Amino acid sequence: MDNIENKVIVITGASSGLGEASAKALSAKGAIIVLAARRLERINALVEEFSKNGKKALAVQTDVTNFTQMQSLIEEAVKKFGKIDVLLNNAGIMPSTPMMDCDVTTWNQVINVNINGVLNGIAAVLPYFKEQKSGHIINVSSVAAHKIGKGSGIYSATKTAVRAISEGLRMEAKDYNIRTTIISPGVIDTELPNASGVPDQLTKQFYQAVAIPADSFARVIEFAISQPEEVDINEILFRPTRQE
Ligand code: NDP
Repeated sequence: MDNIENKVIVITGASSGLGEASAKALSAKGAIIVLAARRLERINALVEEFSKNGKKALAVQTDVTNFTQMQSLIEEAVKKFGKIDVLLNNAGIMPSTPMMDCDVTTWNQVINVNINGVLNGIAAVLPYFKEQKSGHIINVSSVAAHKIGKGSGIYSATKTAVRAISEGLRMEAKDYNIRTTIISPGVIDTELPNASGVPDQLTKQFYQAVAIPADSFARVIEFAISQPEEVDINEILFRPTRQE
């Protein structure tokens, strides 16, 4: 028994990369997956795939920067499946944001998705978790929160904020039997460097040289979720063996 079967797991950013890989792996283990992203056609296709395999799933078009949409996502999940066991706050972006460009609009976009998106998820799910007296919030940070690279100061700042928010949450949420986990992956092969326009050439080369497959992340998520209720995996930092 891996403690994953029949858990209701809400995943933001489920339309590609790490979110999609986690959704597939957890669904295969019998979890009920609620997929959230802006690209509805992609998450609908995943629901169809899971249903064909006899698994329950739901797709809800959601922009994590919109608190009302995050609340609707949580409400729809509870309405359809009666509970939520895990929220995986995974949606994120990493456009090129050199400080020297002073592109405040893009800086604010990154802050809005990577920080406010996570906060919206937390604020939307906490009322349910507090009432249930159980729940698990997993927030996706990054190796970039531990190692600042030239040109990625803004992205690193958002991922550092995610770690701080998660640890602050953990200390308060434990009194409600709510678990909090920070996952900080290294370079993984996803759409991330390309998702926000033309990637910076150095970032692209770096990614191509060391990136590992997304199922590495899914295995880490499974490990955190499958622990018994009294065990909270606080933080996992992992990276490709060949990454500095
Ligand atoms: P992808 O670009 O493949 O996936 C990002 C996901 O986020 C997509 O599903 C996208 O869906 C979703 N998303 C982006 N903006 C929004 C929004 N406003 N509202 C809702 N969903 C949104 O990248 P990854 O899978 O790699 O990234 C997942 C997370 O992992 C991110 O937080 C990233 O920072 C983090 N990470 C990734 C690493 C890597 O090397 N890949 C390393 C360390 C951390 P849609 O566009 O359909 O809305």
